[in-house]
Amino acid sequence: MKLLEDYIKKYANVPNENVLKVDCFLNHQIDTNLMMEIAKDLKEHFKNKKITKIVTIETSGIAPSVFLGYLLNVPVVFMKKNNSRIMVDENYHTQVHSFTKNKDYDLIASKKYITKDDSILFIDDFMANGEACLGAIRIIEQAQAHLVGIGIVIEKAFQEGRKKVEEAGYEVYSLARVQSLEKNKVQFVDESN
Ligand code: 5GP
Repeated sequence: MKLLEDYIKKYANVPNENVLKVDCFLNHQIDTNLMMEIAKDLKEHFKNKKITKIVTIETSGIAPSVFLGYLLNVPVVFMKKNNSRIMVDENYHTQVHSFTKNKDYDLIASKKYITKDDSILFIDDFMANGEACLGAIRIIEQAQAHLVGIGIVIEKAFQEGRKKVEEAGYEVYSLARVQSLEKNKVQFVDESN
């Protein structure tokens, strides 16, 4: 998505060759016009899928998901990162390794809000090694819900996420695909070849 790439070029920071910081429009301050354009793009891409619910992970997946949920007129559920005792009877849960914090956390979702009747589109802000997405998939599978697609705002294509998620049998659609962050410069995947 050209607009998103332009935002990344203009506003992103590259603290090291593995991390992209987009606090200015997605991870701290939220650019509502950009979120709407992202939501429109996702709506168009998944227009042939029957979607009853958007599922994401707190915190930064929520903003694009809410705009998309509004456009599709469906609810948005965000899975929670939980460090306290898990009520196993009430929640689905799984462990996820955090790329940014380099430690494991529990990911939970209430059994009330994800059920076998749901056709889910999963959305997240970033994909790196795919651990968050695979954790969300495990929970959706536990709930016996139908996962119709995965939409990622920014994919770091030089990391393993896409490969692992595709090997698990799911397609990944990303709005921006970063090829490299070497020398503090953002290089996008050239989709034309
Ligand atoms: P993964 O689980 O795919 O390894 O990492 C994805 C999660 O880690 C995302 O939900 C996002 O919160 C965080 N993340 C991974 N890489 C980056 C990055 O370069 N920048 C930011 N802001 N978050 C990232």
